[in-house]
Amino acid sequence: MKTKNRYTTYIGLELHAQLLTKSKMFCGCKNSFGEKPNSQTCPVCLGLPGSLPVVNREALNQAIKFGLATDSNINMNSWFDRKNYFYPDLPKGYQITQFAKPLAQGGVIELSGNNKVHLQEIHLEEDSARSVHYEDYVKEGYSYLDFNRSGIPLLEIVTEPDLCNSSEVVNFLKHIIKIMQYLKICNGKLQDGSLRCDLNISVGKNSDSVPDWKVEVKNLNSLKAIKKAVKFEEKRLIEMLEKGMYLEQQTRKWDEKKGVTELLRSKEKDYDYRYFPDPDLPQINLEETYIKEIEDLMPELPAKKQKRFMEEYGLDTDSAELLTRNQKIADFFEESLKFYNNPDLTARIIIGDFFAFMNEVSEDFCKKGIKPVFIAEIVEMLDKNMISNKIVKKIFSHFQEKILSPKEMVKNNNWNIINDNSQIKKIIENTIINNPEEVKRYQAGNQNLMNFFIGKVMQKTQGRAKGEKVKRILKELLKEMN
Ligand SMILES: [Zn+2]
Repeated sequence: MKTKNRYTTYIGLELHAQLLTKSKMFCGCKNSFGEKPNSQTCPVCLGLPGSLPVVNREALNQAIKFGLATDSNINMNSWFDRKNYFYPDLPKGYQITQFAKPLAQGGVIELSGNNKVHLQEIHLEEDSARSVHYEDYVKEGYSYLDFNRSGIPLLEIVTEPDLCNSSEVVNFLKHIIKIMQYLKICNGKLQDGSLRCDLNISVGKNSDSVPDWKVEVKNLNSLKAIKKAVKFEEKRLIEMLEKGMYLEQQTRKWDEKKGVTELLRSKEKDYDYRYFPDPDLPQINLEETYIKEIEDLMPELPAKKQKRFMEEYGLDTDSAELLTRNQKIADFFEESLKFYNNPDLTARIIIGDFFAFMNEVSEDFCKKGIKPVFIAEIVEMLDKNMISNKIVKKIFSHFQEKILSPKEMVKNNNWNIINDNSQIKKIIENTIINNPEEVKRYQAGNQNLMNFFIGKVMQKTQGRAKGEKVKRILKELLKEMN
């Protein structure tokens, strides 16, 4: 815990991740985003009387995977409870969730700098329908309900209040999103609600224990909003403590436009929901062999992969981190090495020119059409002194128009490096003859003009000469002339 003056901030998170299953949590309706409103529904997810839920095994498997990836203890026996409340987006009057016995408990996520965030629990539940407030109709007092979201499997993750400032919260979330994307269980998009994050924040004065109250902040749909909300709430709470005010349990919502949190309700307790085991669903009883089978299907996780990239390929921490941030990038890197094995240079090209070309590394990056073998070709040509760094830039700028094999590109455009020294020498001699004024100034002591000459030669050769070589020959010739 870090102490800010005399105050300590304690932040825990409550995350809701929409799982990437084909169907919903308790029915066969399609789990997909962006369909026509109310087109993916059935009696179960509409909450009609007499309909019976059935547990989605894939959702259970994905939740177990996340539990294993975070070193949680999977409960061999757990069950679903009904959380009773009424809201228009929940017409059956209760949400099916896990309360008394969650699927997993006691996990831990290690962040950089030996920072550990403990997971209180991980459990499965169903999403509610979505209230849609179209502006035109809100004025007249109407809202709409879209039941496509009703019953989508959610993984709820509750952390201990181990985080103590906004950057730790953001780091943690990035880490969680990375794990989920590696496991292919959630796409982690805060902006479209496939991952939702509520903050539990409290501030203690001279205390070494977490206060017995906390403020819950909802409606955060970007990392930026989360960062701002933490800072806002931290400041607000400290100000209240400074004034000697009494702090109590509250639920607030973040208003992005105003940049403030606003009170939603206070003093809400669990017993208001009158939880009890759902009589329509059997208990979940797992066996060791079943969990082992799921474990065997899990991919190598980011932290482990990063470590391996450092050991196996001799990469530095930063490069290994950048290359393992996204599983597709990591695979792309390793795939490239199969065609030409120079890890260091391949990492440099991918992190430098390739990332710049992609602008941002999105999960759809493969769609651009650059294949791993193309990166390998560039690396090979560079490694074998067939092209210069300038030509690498040219290849990537040509990729903007058309993606084709860099080897072909170099061949068709005659971009290969000029290895013939006499040819380079000739170009350099011409440069010297054509720029007598600069030669005089150089010889009078203006060493900076060396870059001017190199630039001229590069222009003439269209980047096909090695800068080092040009510099060496230039120096020699200018010296001879003196
Ligand atoms: Zn349904």
